[in-house]
Amino acid sequence: MDWDKVYKAYDGKRCSAELDLMGQINILSNAKIVKTLNVLLIGISKCNLACNYCYCRHEQMQIMDVKSFITIFNKLNRYFASDVEFHLVFHGGEPLLLGKSFYRVVFSFLKGQQRAFHTSIQTNLTLLDEEFMSIFTANNCTVGTSIDGSKLMHDTNRIYKDGRGTYDDVLRAVNALEADEAPFGGFVVTLNDTNIASAENLYDSLRCFRGASIGFSIVFKSTDTSETILDSEQLGGFLVDLFDIWVHDDSPLRLTFFENIIRNCLGINLCPECTFSKQCADNFLAINALGDVFTCCDFEGMQKFSYGNILSSDFQDIWESPIRRALLDRLSKRTISQECCECEHFDICNSGCMAKTTRGFSDRDCYCFAYRMLFSHIRGQLPALIACTHRISEALAGDEMKNI
Ligand code: SF4
Ligand code: SF4
Ligand code: SF4
Repeated sequence: MDWDKVYKAYDGKRCSAELDLMGQINILSNAKIVKTLNVLLIGISKCNLACNYCYCRHEQMQIMDVKSFITIFNKLNRYFASDVEFHLVFHGGEPLLLGKSFYRVVFSFLKGQQRAFHTSIQTNLTLLDEEFMSIFTANNCTVGTSIDGSKLMHDTNRIYKDGRGTYDDVLRAVNALEADEAPFGGFVVTLNDTNIASAENLYDSLRCFRGASIGFSIVFKSTDTSETILDSEQLGGFLVDLFDIWVHDDSPLRLTFFENIIRNCLGINLCPECTFSKQCADNFLAINALGDVFTCCDFEGMQKFSYGNILSSDFQDIWESPIRRALLDRLSKRTISQECCECEHFDICNSGCMAKTTRGFSDRDCYCFAYRMLFSHIRGQLPALIACTHRISEALAGDEMKNI
């Protein structure tokens, strides 16, 4: 894209979030649409850290061996049409605890496969060393991690078992990945009561990661405990403030949470982020070390939400399980709450995350109030955002558009 022309079209006023939005719309509209199946492999139940908000529920150590991985891959490979691209995400617990030989054998097996796939690992990075880095780089496996903001914000919750904070070690590993030019997948920021106290402080603390993709995960205990942890009104105020800082930043961070909401507002939701997508149960699968299948990590460990066991069952029975059917019916048959059915923001929200409900699948996302605040605020700004993108679009009409 000819960015000089874009800037000129915008009367020299630089509002990069809008320009970035424009670029993404064009990329999306020209992109070949590939259906992706995100397979979260919860290969190990244990972790070397003891984060205060950790969701790991297992007392017993569960480890996925290479044989199980191959069985899982082969079953998925046989079941899904060849144009479905697999995104295999090594998750945990802490997935580096599976050891180097696990990854060496797994990547060597994957090299022989015809299926289009991409691999990534979501790790706390504290165990990353040169050898791990070279394995992931050699196999084009994208490395993603978690950071909760400043050192103080991060070290309040993301700690070793002896209570020490992990921020310095995470940053050291991020710098090593950068120096090694390893494929880096960005950060997940867990929004919690420490880092939502000030949108400005959190945004400032993330500025050093400009250019990297930054996603949000909102802390939530579990569907079973009905505990939401964050105050929804406080969260809503925080998200509104953060959106304003982001949209007015001359050189904005890549906050995928907002980017995806804007895409939904414009009716072009082709994004993989799950919370406001229509049917995460169609695009996500989480499989633990024992082979039990769930929609995602948020349900893992709660057997009543399991689709079945992939190692011992036919995959068709798992994919057509009554639990998955109930999750799909939630939106398609509108078995959700009356509030959602009548909500003016339903087209953006799609009832939010079904793991974050408190009274079963038919309920709303427990952070509904916060989302309503944010959606109303963003909708109020959309005309300006759209007018801007139209003007840029007109200025670029012609061959340049095809060159994106
Ligand atoms: S790094 Fe992840 S799995 Fe490990 S303790 Fe922290 S939240 Fe739990
Ligand atoms: S249940 Fe929630 S966290 Fe899990 S994939 Fe769906 S939207 Fe995402
Ligand atoms: S904002 Fe609340 S009521 Fe509206 S669709 Fe989302 S969860 Fe349902």
